[in-house]
Amino acid sequence: MSVPIVELRDAVKEYVNGSLRVTALRGINLRIDPGEYAVIMGASGSGKSTLLNLLGCLDHLSGGDYLLGGESVANKTDDQLSEIRSLRIGFIFQSYNLIPQLNVLENIEVPLFYQGVPESEARVKAEALAERMGLSDRLKHKPMELSGGQQQRVAIARSLVCDPLLMLADEPTGNLDSKTGAEILELIDELHAEGKTIVMVTHDDDIAHRAQRVVRFLDGKILSNDWNGAPKP
Ligand code: ADP
Ligand code: MG
Repeated sequence: MSVPIVELRDAVKEYVNGSLRVTALRGINLRIDPGEYAVIMGASGSGKSTLLNLLGCLDHLSGGDYLLGGESVANKTDDQLSEIRSLRIGFIFQSYNLIPQLNVLENIEVPLFYQGVPESEARVKAEALAERMGLSDRLKHKPMELSGGQQQRVAIARSLVCDPLLMLADEPTGNLDSKTGAEILELIDELHAEGKTIVMVTHDDDIAHRAQRVVRFLDGKILSNDWNGAPKP
């Protein structure tokens, strides 16, 4: 059996602000294998973004363990987490999170510069991904000069540039019209078909049907964990 990409063991996340404590995740057990496409659903406040932030090494667990690609990240320092994040995780957000002062190519190259990849090599990779995302005629444009769909394509190219182990998407089509959103979802389907491991948060049942698996959250716990239409292959 292959090593899971994600393995959460009794994962707990508690936010502490002064005397206020909020337990956002209450003992989550979740395994995601290489090449799976899983969708996370659940009401607002049920812990979906908290889960994604933990999976993406943006935050620390309060209890339990998280193994990413077989290696525990539970006791890593902030610097170690940030390195793991830049090497192994691709993020796609609802709000794109591009750097407004940088053009399309420069935005795509950002993760490579964090890794010290030489400029000429970064440029070749960024151009190839921009082309793949249909952005060849927009390479020198700034995010403000692009449509929402084009900005999300830049964000997807940026998330792919380091060939991540795990791709995480939080409502990636939330700000897009339905036609543009459908194009972005097709791109995500293609990445899955190529073998990428994808975890995506969505509110939309139609979107959830595209994934192999739907994990439903309620009040910080997993309510159900179903393979779309069939038992786990
Ligand atoms: P969802 O993405 O499903 O809407 P979240 O993961 O954002 O849910 O939030 C889960 C719970 O944790 C909510 O009760 C929310 O108010 C709380 N929460 C989220 N982020 C923080 C934070 N930074 N500080 C304190 N509480 C938080
Ligand atoms: Mg959320």
